[in-house]
Amino acid sequence: AATPSDSPTIFDMIISKEIPSTVVYEDDKVLAFRDITPQGPVHILLIPKVRDGLTGLCKAEERHIDILGRLLYTAKLVAKQEGLDEGFRIVINDGPQGCQSVYHLHVHLIGGRQMNWPPG
Ligand code: 5GP
Repeated sequence: AATPSDSPTIFDMIISKEIPSTVVYEDDKVLAFRDITPQGPVHILLIPKVRDGLTGLCKAEERHIDILGRLLYTAKLVAKQEGLDEGFRIVINDGPQGCQSVYHLHVHLIGGRQMNWPPG
């Protein structure tokens, strides 16, 4: 697992399209693309296009409230677009114990199969 840092991440290269990804939604603030290692029939990552210090949710400040809301609202739009009418799972991994591996805040949208609770 990566250690928390402010260094650029692979997501910067996805945002700049220097490395390819399958984009399913994009606007001026949010990019949503398919996870390269999907944990279900649908697995999409939603990220802020500008990280602005949000290496992880633990770094959230009041100025981030709008983008945090946008990420969740966009997750709902994408879930609908992907036909996840039976439900879905939203995950934000934070820090080493949360199994975060990329230090650019991202929301996982996973669906298309039955989920289990509690997670491991
Ligand atoms: P984390 O473990 O930090 O919550 O999630 C990072 C996610 O990014 C993982 O699910 C991993 O599969 C995904 N990922 C890492 N590198 C790439 C990449 O280059 N392209 C895409 N599409 N997903 C990636």
